[in-house]
Amino acid sequence: MTDTGLLAILIAALAGLLAGRAWAAALGRGDLRERPAFRTSPHYIQGLHYLAAGQLELAISELTKVTREDADAVEVLQVLGNLLREAGHVERAIQTHQGLLARTDLTRAERAHALACLGMDFRKAGFLDRAALTFDQVLEVDAKSIHACVGLQKLHEEQRQWREAYQVQTRLSRLRKTDDSLVLGYLQAEMGHEAARAGRREAAEQAFKTALSLDRRVFPARLALADLYADLEPRRAAAILEDAVRETPERAYLAFDRLARVYAAREEPSRFVALCEGIIRQDPQDWRARLALARHLRADGRFEEASGLLLRALEANPQVLLVHLETWRTLRDLGARSEAVDRYIATAEEAVFYRDPHICTACRYRADDMLWRCPHCHEWNTFVEERLVPLAATR
Ligand SMILES: [Zn+2]
Repeated sequence: MTDTGLLAILIAALAGLLAGRAWAAALGRGDLRERPAFRTSPHYIQGLHYLAAGQLELAISELTKVTREDADAVEVLQVLGNLLREAGHVERAIQTHQGLLARTDLTRAERAHALACLGMDFRKAGFLDRAALTFDQVLEVDAKSIHACVGLQKLHEEQRQWREAYQVQTRLSRLRKTDDSLVLGYLQAEMGHEAARAGRREAAEQAFKTALSLDRRVFPARLALADLYADLEPRRAAAILEDAVRETPERAYLAFDRLARVYAAREEPSRFVALCEGIIRQDPQDWRARLALARHLRADGRFEEASGLLLRALEANPQVLLVHLETWRTLRDLGARSEAVDRYIATAEEAVFYRDPHICTACRYRADDMLWRCPHCHEWNTFVEERLVPLAATR
């Protein structure tokens, strides 16, 4: 198991434990009935020990023994329920949380917490409607439940209900007093994409502008806004993309194809050459601008110049398969024609591995493309292109 996965489980489990602490504090104030001292059970201590060591199954086994010895150990049941869910025993997690909710001696806060956990069980099990219903119930009991809001927000995101996700995220930001404008911006961009696909041009434009006013880092909103203007107002589209390249040079490559098209439509292809040359001057290590320029030149029949650029890109980044592929295509156009060359190019093009690896900085999930939301840890704006460190630098 990865460290982040383990950390998530510990946090989820400890959320139950901390809630237990809060009740214990309430107990001290005398507004709760006495609870038996399960804390003296050796199984409890052993269970926590296994939990800290990341041995989930053993922790589950020990904590189950505690709840058998002492049916009133509500906070242990909460921890156990969350552990079961995180370890993949979702059915048992649901049973544990439903068992808790069937009790008549829970406080309001305990009930809200157990309900929110049940909602997460349902979500993990794929019962999305039941999960949504359960989170709504939590919010009826406790309108300020951050747990339920987080669950509901993820649920909407998973179902691509961007407007609803945006509303819950706004509520969450108010509750937690956090600045979530980057996430809100990405959600607005998704709302814009949806409107654009449905042909609602003005709504799309508005959403993309709102996204950028929330946070200028929402790169897909810039790309989409340029797409909206590309046909009728290519000058405006070009200006938006040029701004994007200037403000976020490390993501400039995502705008290259669009810029090349817009400049071609304006019959100013030399502007694309100038743009790439500018980027190469700024960052001599940049292989993407060299690659884009080489492709542009090859399409123009300027094979020698393309080949020179590619050689320099290879010197700086020899591990990049895309550069090798483009080099071979250029060599073929330069006259290196043979069946072997064609076979090499076809094989490399179809190879099933990461041709352009990008990686999530939050959970290390890898993909062959830039992703705005990580499909593994569900965070926004965490992907970067994966760069290999030259051997010399690691010594
Ligand atoms: Zn991730």
